[in-house]
Amino acid sequence: MNMNRIALYPGSFDPITNGHLDIVERALEIFDRVVVGVGVNLAKEPLFSIDERLEMIHTTVNNRPEIDVVGYDGLTANFAEKIGAVAIIRGLRAVSDFEHEFQMALANKKLFPKAETVFLMPSLCNVYLNSSMVKTIARLGGNVTPFVPEPVAKSLKAKFEK
Ligand code: ADP
Repeated sequence: MNMNRIALYPGSFDPITNGHLDIVERALEIFDRVVVGVGVNLAKEPLFSIDERLEMIHTTVNNRPEIDVVGYDGLTANFAEKIGAVAIIRGLRAVSDFEHEFQMALANKKLFPKAETVFLMPSLCNVYLNSSMVKTIARLGGNVTPFVPEPVAKSLKAKFEK
């Protein structure tokens, strides 16, 4: 049996929130390693550069050996294959996530059949959380500390103070 089962958790993470971290912890209950893959989502205009996003995640997970943080471009399926992932992790918050996620899971399965998409639900307190909402709160000068890890709260503050 392969004792090093790698799961890829791909996303924009613009920026990473407590909801994303909730999913990472759940994935680690099932898989040996989680690779947080920060990718380019062509449908979204990011606030933070890939390097800024990677830096915030690195600082947050603070060198945990079972978590890798890597940027990638191109197809998620190709990146999953490259790192030898057996699963692609996605979070499901509401029914509204489902249709888009279902389409992507089917496409990824065609492109890289060896990886199974695994959907995980966050705890109830993180269900409503998303990066866009956090950015809006920060932009309007609100307190984001209940929603994001400390390094992210600092980066958001710095971003909007400029
Ligand atoms: P993408 O642009 O790929 O959707 P995101 O960073 O917005 O990237 O999200 C990455 C993944 O994390 C998605 O599967 C998304 O549904 C999930 N996710 C985001 N926020 C939460 C949350 N609060 N609870 C559970 N899953 C979440």
